[in-house]
Amino acid sequence: MRDLLKAASVLYGHLFLPPPPTEAISILMYHRVVGDLNMELDLPLGVFSRQMAWLAQSGAVISYDDAVQALTEGVLEAKLKYVLTFDDAYEDFYTLAWPVLKKYGLPATLFVPTRFIDEPDQLPLAERWIPKAGNKMKPMTWDQLREVAADPLITIGLHTHSHPNLLKLSDEDIAKEITLNSDRLSAELGFSPVHFAYPMGYYDGRVQRVAKDHCQSATIIGGDLATSANTSRYEVPRIPVRRSDGWFWFQQRVSGRLIGEEHFIMFVKRLLGKKNGY
Ligand SMILES: [Zn+2]
Repeated sequence: MRDLLKAASVLYGHLFLPPPPTEAISILMYHRVVGDLNMELDLPLGVFSRQMAWLAQSGAVISYDDAVQALTEGVLEAKLKYVLTFDDAYEDFYTLAWPVLKKYGLPATLFVPTRFIDEPDQLPLAERWIPKAGNKMKPMTWDQLREVAADPLITIGLHTHSHPNLLKLSDEDIAKEITLNSDRLSAELGFSPVHFAYPMGYYDGRVQRVAKDHCQSATIIGGDLATSANTSRYEVPRIPVRRSDGWFWFQQRVSGRLIGEEHFIMFVKRLLGKKNGY
């Protein structure tokens, strides 16, 4: 069924959408790379490793920081580039993902919700997932995070302290969530990150305006390849790499040819009354 949807969306894109731009950056979003949970955000390690080997071979993986700069200054080369991002600082980033990134010398950005590190039972997940994932998902420890942060390949990013839906908070509480996140990271790691990811991708113009006072960029989910035309500093689109992509559909996804599927998923979410988010 999933494969059928993906095939239909590639066909739809081919027939009805303009070809994916080449002056673009494919900013990929990962969460977990264990594969022991039946969730789209949990990829089996073997699949992830193969994806990283392929991306390393392309020689086109750049840092998130360089990507934001190129996108906002409008200086993109005519060859598709890739960026790796990871959300939530799960333990397997330290034990499984980071060793693969080091093996291939790939830069990545890790967005860290600090309450999760302070209180490992505070899972940064929608309520419906917690019963399934509760005893399998653990955060990295502060010691592990310090080790990761010292690696020049890895950039640490802001992701609020307690990972709330920011649409439901007052301006003051949004500011508190980001400030506390920044303060905890600064106290534990010795520096304050500059890039931010909206928890679960929930944001609007108001949330963006508050975020602007506390960080240099903010990333959303969106699903599109990032181009100078569709990216602003506080609305940087990312592409969720899905477990159901496996290996074959991954190549379509990162080249922007599965955008039809993302549009369909967003459409269904809107029908179900969910604004966006993941
Ligand atoms: Zn998150």
